[in-house]
Order: sequence, then C-alpha cells, then structure tokens
Amino acid sequence: MTVTEALELARLQGVEVTLDGDDLVLKAEAAPPPGLLAILGRGKWDIVAALRLREAEERRRIVQWVNDHFTSSPAGVCAHCGGGARLEDPFVVLFVGTDRGEVHGNCHSTWLAEREAQACEALGSSHSAAFGHRDLILPSK
Ligand SMILES: [Zn+2]
Repeated sequence: MTVTEALELARLQGVEVTLDGDDLVLKAEAAPPPGLLAILGRGKWDIVAALRLREAEERRRIVQWVNDHFTSSPAGVCAHCGGGARLEDPFVVLFVGTDRGEVHGNCHSTWLAEREAQACEALGSSHSAAFGHRDLILPSK
C-alpha cells in the first residue's frame, strides 16, 4: 500500500492524519479501526516523510500568498496597529518587491500570524485548524 493509499483509506474511515514533530497525530470522531492503525503504524516513516513534504509545500503556498497580498503602508505608521514610531519599539521594515511596509517589532509576530491565518482561509488550508486536536499520537518507536 502506498502512502497516498494509506492516507486515503484513513480519510475514508473518518480519520485525519497530521504531523506533530516525528509523530503522526490521528484526529477522528470515533476510535480508528485497529486494521487502520496497523497500516499507519507500519508505514509511519513513509507517511511522516510524505506529510513533511506536504507541509513544506503548504508553507510555501502560505508565504507566497502573504507576499502576493502584501501592500505598502505609509512610512512611519505601523501596518498592524496604526501607531507611529516608538523609541522603545523600533519598526521592522518589510520589503516585498517594490512594496514597503513597517510594523513595530512587538507587532510583527501578531501581524504575521494574522496574515498567515488569512492565507490559510484564502487557500482553504486546514493547517492552523489542525493544531489543538490530539486525540491519538502514534509513539515514535
Ligand atoms: Zn504596531
């Protein structure tokens, strides 16, 4: 059975397989059938590798979306909170192509998280929604 077939089988049985470090995380409404667990356990490292590739590809799409939807903000104004220059919180200057924006250092991570959440929504990605559900973790060994 290929990785794609195994993941498709899981999906058909109502189990969503995601990645958490080196572990596979199974998200399901009901306990997954033992047969499925055996298949996923046997193919675990292949599945982990395949999911890593998918995550990297999704990550690339999200970064691309954020860049594609980047708009310039006026100089000296935070693109996140709209505030002006602060001595204790210098601006991070962002350049995308010919666009230029500024966000406070303290606003940057929130600004980026919001942009990425928008990207996930726009791309129909379940990436952000996948966090927080940990019904079952297949052990590493
Ligand atoms: Zn700010």
